[in-house]
Amino acid sequence: MKFSYTVTRSKRKTIAIQVDIDCNIMVKAPYSVSDEKITAFVDSKKQWLEKTIIQQKEKKKNQPAFTDEQLTRMRQRAKQIIPPKVEYYSKIMGVTPTSVKINSAKTRYGSCSGKNSLNFSLYLMAKDERFIDYVVIHELAHIKHHNHSKEFYEFIEKFMPDYKIISKL
Ligand SMILES: [Zn+2]
Repeated sequence: MKFSYTVTRSKRKTIAIQVDIDCNIMVKAPYSVSDEKITAFVDSKKQWLEKTIIQQKEKKKNQPAFTDEQLTRMRQRAKQIIPPKVEYYSKIMGVTPTSVKINSAKTRYGSCSGKNSLNFSLYLMAKDERFIDYVVIHELAHIKHHNHSKEFYEFIEKFMPDYKIISKL
């Protein structure tokens, strides 16, 4: 395993190495130490680095992705930006939802009920804007096609020709 790391030199006397929660490796070194010495130092810490990276990944997995404050802000923002998008696309797509709601579903960004009421997850706010548009178009398209048929995707394609790429953002 090869590690990439950033080196910050300062007036310190010893070399130190750190791994943050995103698994970025940071080396702090005195001005006098050569690059070769730093490389050798990092190599000598190989086992420790491997172990620490696994630990940090585990830690991150167990950490809630957003704070309550962030979630509140995401919900507010979703309420501001999603209904106008739904209105915009429903006009050009020629479909009308019965209602638009924001929920906090973690695994489903959007859904369309049998009665054509649409639900969108506040977690969409953490995604690319084009992906949000895709989810809006996808759910609106379900008003016309309550399935994932070829016709359903052809209908989406009319309004978002590159939906295949955008749906993976
Ligand atoms: Zn669907």
